[in-house]
Amino acid sequence: MAQFNGRFIGSIVVLTGAGISAESGVPTFRDADGLWEQHDPMEIATPGAFRRNPDLVYRFYNARRSMLAAVAPNQAHQALARLQREFAGEVFLVTQNVDDLHERGGSSQVCHMHGQLQASLCTACRRSMHAHGDFDRHSSCPACGAVGCLRPDVVWFGEIPYYMDEIEARLAECDLFIAIGTSGLVYPAAGFVQRARGAGATTVELNREPSEVAGLFHHRRQGLATTTVSALVAELLAG
Ligand code: NAD
Repeated sequence: MAQFNGRFIGSIVVLTGAGISAESGVPTFRDADGLWEQHDPMEIATPGAFRRNPDLVYRFYNARRSMLAAVAPNQAHQALARLQREFAGEVFLVTQNVDDLHERGGSSQVCHMHGQLQASLCTACRRSMHAHGDFDRHSSCPACGAVGCLRPDVVWFGEIPYYMDEIEARLAECDLFIAIGTSGLVYPAAGFVQRARGAGATTVELNREPSEVAGLFHHRRQGLATTTVSALVAELLAG
């Protein structure tokens, strides 16, 4: 248990977005230097784009996957791992990020609602598998052997995110909901603050600038994730 703003907190849900990995050097989607400045999302991150131009989509995700080797978790990822280790209650971490920086930062549990760069999904046998290197439309499935059936195991625009039942259940019972580095433009994640508030949770936004849904939070703290997350975690562990 901890205290936050005079209230006892036994269970916490943390939602992270691209902003938590920005200081590690992973580009966000919508900032000025973000990924979508160079690529039209509809040409990359939809099932239709994959049908129309699979080579472009494979190239984009192969490049992002290989970029992971050049980046490292930052203090914000590490602070959340510390919260998971040291907080006496429950901490459920859900991320929209497809990178592996929470895991490398030491997090014991990470719910990747938008999938993972280092996973492939076989459309023939429906199995999801670790993928550390490149794959493309000539690759065969390590599980069933089908050729040309592997796709990045990431959730594209128009697809349903993973683990929604578990996330909804956690939101319904949390005392504190913290959103970090997410623009509030992509649903269903942008709606989590309302679900948590509706269930009686205290809600906090940590962002470099107010998100699209900033007005729905009880508390907002502006700044870089490395600073704001470390400070909030220290506060919660001290309380
Ligand atoms: P977004 O690009 O839409 O928004 C990024 C947010 O982070 C903005 O609100 C911005 O103000 C904030 N931000 C930027 N730098 C920050 C910093 N140093 N500290 C604190 N906040 C900072 O990203 P989103 O909301 O996560 O968008 C959702 C989509 O982005 C998801 O589908 C996700 O899969 C995808 N995405 C993931 C990664 C990744 O895995 N690292 C990278 C880019 C996009």
